[in-house]
Amino acid sequence: MAPSSVPAPFAEPLLPQLDPEFNQYYTEKHHKVRAYVRNFVETELLPNAQEWETKGEVPDYVRQKYCDAGFAIVHPVVDEEDAGGVTPIAGIPHNDWDVWCGVIVGDELNRMGWCGVSWGLNGGNGIGCPPISRFGTKEQRRRWLPKVARGELRFCLGITEPDGGSDVANLRTTAERRGDKYIVNGAKKWITNGIWADYCTTAVRTGGPSHGGISLLVIPLKAPGVTTRRMENQGVHASGSTYITFEDVEVPLDHLLGKENQGFPLIMSNFNPERLSLATAALRLSRVCVQDAYEYACDRETFGKKLIEHEAIRQKFATFGLLIEPAHAFLEQLCYIIEQSRVTGKEVNVGGMTALLKVMSTRCLEKVCREAQQIMGGAGYAKSGRGARIEQISRDPCCAARSS
Ligand SMILES: Cc1cc2nc3c(=O)[nH]c(=O)nc-3n(C[C@H](O)[C@H](O)[C@H](O)COP(=O)(O)OP(=O)(O)OC[C@H]3O[C@@H](n4cnc5c(N)ncnc54)[C@H](O)[C@@H]3O)c2cc1C
Repeated sequence: MAPSSVPAPFAEPLLPQLDPEFNQYYTEKHHKVRAYVRNFVETELLPNAQEWETKGEVPDYVRQKYCDAGFAIVHPVVDEEDAGGVTPIAGIPHNDWDVWCGVIVGDELNRMGWCGVSWGLNGGNGIGCPPISRFGTKEQRRRWLPKVARGELRFCLGITEPDGGSDVANLRTTAERRGDKYIVNGAKKWITNGIWADYCTTAVRTGGPSHGGISLLVIPLKAPGVTTRRMENQGVHASGSTYITFEDVEVPLDHLLGKENQGFPLIMSNFNPERLSLATAALRLSRVCVQDAYEYACDRETFGKKLIEHEAIRQKFATFGLLIEPAHAFLEQLCYIIEQSRVTGKEVNVGGMTALLKVMSTRCLEKVCREAQQIMGGAGYAKSGRGARIEQISRDPCCAARSS
């Protein structure tokens, strides 16, 4: 699909982003990051994204280009060597990389509209590696992160189990310490990128019940006793959703992240960035729906005039603005607070507000996508043609599994 040409109302943020007099969130560096990612998406990903989503896999040479372009560098970069010698995105030095840069990367990748493709490229690393950079020892960071940045190793994150996902404190996969190894038994479900990953950053029970008995262990997925099976889901086909079983899998002790039985806060540390990233994706995907529906409404004629000239259709577009723009302003306000906390080192409790933002943004997408599908008529229900992105978005997790 070609990049969009006709500017649609609310397809871009309404508040000024580029004028520093009115918006002090974004600086020159952020504009550079945005331009860099947009160019990569438009030239390397968008032209074939639909084909990869249908096939269920992004070709490895594309993933390698993506890594070479700096997208697999794990943030926060604690020291230069962890980035594996890969040039950072838009050449921004690691110590200048801030919360806004990460949000802009997510925003621009989702402009593609095919989120299975971006999940397929880096979904596992994106959630499986930050605990290593935040809580791993220097030796652990050096062992894994440079290779991840260069595209030589892939990770996934294993929290959810067949018997439960939301209730993380009650997970059942066990890791029993025997001599110089842990012996792992259990199963993990819906693990993004699991079929392609070399390692799974896994939540395991090493102690008693509840959250005080949980540890985070990096399990080699090529080890004897590990089996992986692809799962077929409603959407994000190219993300490689996987069911993993562990049967007496031997894991060296130095694969433990942080301290034994103190893994729960490490797991939770992932949740706020994940919520922010889902909210960013949901708002951009909402704008993609607006764009495609608007272009269609400007072309399609019914009862002697363009769809866009019918008042009922115009009202739908006004409602899109009402849903998207306030949520976007809330996202920017939260980013500002999170960035201030990062810069000053002062802790700030944004968990509840970030969860609200996620709910607000995914509900926004759910409504925008449904109404955009209505505007497209039958075309919004077809897997090819002008409504294909909207049809896909309606099945992808930001829209369809909004409570998870
Ligand atoms: C596409 C996709 C990719 C995923 N990738 C990963 C991954 O890479 N790694 C990973 O570990 N997991 C992954 N997951 C799993 C995801 O994190 C879980 O699905 C999620 O945490 C919910 O867990 P569950 O499905 O077991 O639902 P459950 O915990 O069984 O909950 C079922 C429903 O009840 C609701 N619910 C639960 N508790 C309450 C309550 N107290 N009050 C009211 N409602 C409640 C939930 O919101 C949900 O709607 C992925 C899931 C999907 C769909």
